[in-house]
Amino acid sequence: MLKFIRPILSLLLLLLAFVACKTQKQASHTAAPPAAAPRDSTIQALPDTIRVAGPADTAVVDTVPVIPQKDSLVITGVGDIMLGTNFPETYYLPPNEGKDMLAGVAHVFAGADVVFGNLEGVILDSAGTQKKCRNPKACYLFRSPSYMANRLHEAGFNLLSVANNHAGDFGPEGRAHTAKMLDSLGIHYAGNLQQPFIVFAQEGIKYGFAAFSPNKGTPQITDIARATATVAHLDSLCDVVIVSFHGGAEGSKYTSVPRAPEYFYGEDRGDVYHFAHAMVDAGADIIFGHGPHVPRAIEVYQGRFIAYSLGNFATYGRFNLRGVNGLAPIARIVVSNRGEFLTGRIISARQVGWGVPEIDPENAAARLIEELSKKDLPESVISIDESGIISYLHP
Ligand SMILES: [Zn+2]
Repeated sequence: MLKFIRPILSLLLLLLAFVACKTQKQASHTAAPPAAAPRDSTIQALPDTIRVAGPADTAVVDTVPVIPQKDSLVITGVGDIMLGTNFPETYYLPPNEGKDMLAGVAHVFAGADVVFGNLEGVILDSAGTQKKCRNPKACYLFRSPSYMANRLHEAGFNLLSVANNHAGDFGPEGRAHTAKMLDSLGIHYAGNLQQPFIVFAQEGIKYGFAAFSPNKGTPQITDIARATATVAHLDSLCDVVIVSFHGGAEGSKYTSVPRAPEYFYGEDRGDVYHFAHAMVDAGADIIFGHGPHVPRAIEVYQGRFIAYSLGNFATYGRFNLRGVNGLAPIARIVVSNRGEFLTGRIISARQVGWGVPEIDPENAAARLIEELSKKDLPESVISIDESGIISYLHP
């Protein structure tokens, strides 16, 4: 008899651990007490069963595997990445197969659980179906050779967004080869119609990730109802949900978060403020925005971190890097194992030469983000010091 009860008890204890974990997470999001378990649930059946088992209790506990779980996680995020393009010609590729591109900043990613960036282009060695340009003289299409995916992997990137205006530059061939390369290196990604979101587990933590933009072939930043449903689904499955968006107007005149829809070249680029808040309300824990090519404000809303734009990070050869366009903030955020913001830092890098990020001893990116955050989001519950350290002012 005992022989049969033991496996059943083990299973019940495992179920209890799982249900308890999810209940705890939901409670933290809503700040409400955990909901009582339904009367006929597995949880209530458990004490009875244990009592019947009597002396076998200790043995049963021994058989339950202990799943180690970290108390806190380090999540880093950067903006646009385009390490060099072989289109229209190899002239736009960096020397040494890009091996020096991230050498000055990769140490910042050491020890991070998640290293995120926006892949602003396609990984493809040649050919592909070129996107048609309205003005062929100002046609910017980005096609990075396969080895550039290795450069991202070597630097520590393990999560990328492919929801942007360049992921479709070389048609289905570009998307397919990008996916193949990232899959081969174990780099998680999402943000196209084939893979709008992804769930992955790492060291006992389950992560969900979804990426949005106003661009064709990507989950839409303007469809808040659908995005909310995606994020709520991820929240029901995962401990930590990360959302990326590529949205807002572009350039040095657009460093502010307007709290309204933004139109640029006649295109609805989304209402990034209301989008980000809706995603947190739906269960997102960390929001990494990009797209304007310049930094924007950050905030902590409902205990969750939002960066409205992380600007350009490593954009080689084809990008305007003048002034604030050359600032490359790196958000290094520490969250609880349920995604609640604990502390963080905006590490300031700056792109030099043709677009190589280097640590900026003057902390220009952090100073700008501090100024913008105070101006645009004065109600936020954080303070940012000169070196970029973000302190949470608990309400
Ligand atoms: Zn873009």
